[in-house]
Amino acid sequence: MKLSEYELREKLIKVARKCFQYRLMAGTWGNLSVRFDREKVLITPSGFEKTALKPENLLLMDLEGNVLRGDLKPTIETSMHLGIYKARDDVNAVIHTHSPYAMTLSVINEPIPVLTVEFASAVGHEVPVTGFVLPGTKDLADEVVKALGEDGVAALIRNHGVVAVGESLEEAYNVAILVEEEARTYFWIMLLGKSEIGRIPTELVEKMRKFFKKDYGQKGKIVLDLE
Ligand SMILES: [Zn+2]
Repeated sequence: MKLSEYELREKLIKVARKCFQYRLMAGTWGNLSVRFDREKVLITPSGFEKTALKPENLLLMDLEGNVLRGDLKPTIETSMHLGIYKARDDVNAVIHTHSPYAMTLSVINEPIPVLTVEFASAVGHEVPVTGFVLPGTKDLADEVVKALGEDGVAALIRNHGVVAVGESLEEAYNVAILVEEEARTYFWIMLLGKSEIGRIPTELVEKMRKFFKKDYGQKGKIVLDLE
């Protein structure tokens, strides 16, 4: 069922609250967007704590960066969000977090390997780290688009945080959560100092990813508590 613009605004705000409650975003950092009517996006404004957001605070923009509705200043990472939508027809939601364990790995330039079955299923690839780029720049947008590639769903921005994408807000949120969980698992494994790390073989990762896309959830969809 296709949501109206207002319903989609409400949904994005609920997902933003979940990101904040789960500590994927602290203070005013992090931003979210969702595609509406293919060529437009709803996006969070700059400088808002996510629990302070109301549906009318979101900006409706076209993919060229023109504001179609709203009078607030959009997030400084708007060009990154729009760049991803332009590069990837399959992406309908983008979530950028500063979640702490993933941030730690982004600072030491350490990609997140595939270690757990849930990560293999819902993400399905090692999460690369971009080069260092200044926030809010076209360079950041280009680096992230390059790191995501043709079908990646997550990337780390060096010294900065996480970008998670999906076919829906639910999927992008699920990826953002799992990136943080996998980063935490990897952090503790490294701290334990084991010489052998139990990475899942690539062919099994691909199998799990295929299974997840086709047979997991409800007709390929996952359900979040958005009340
Ligand atoms: Zn950021």
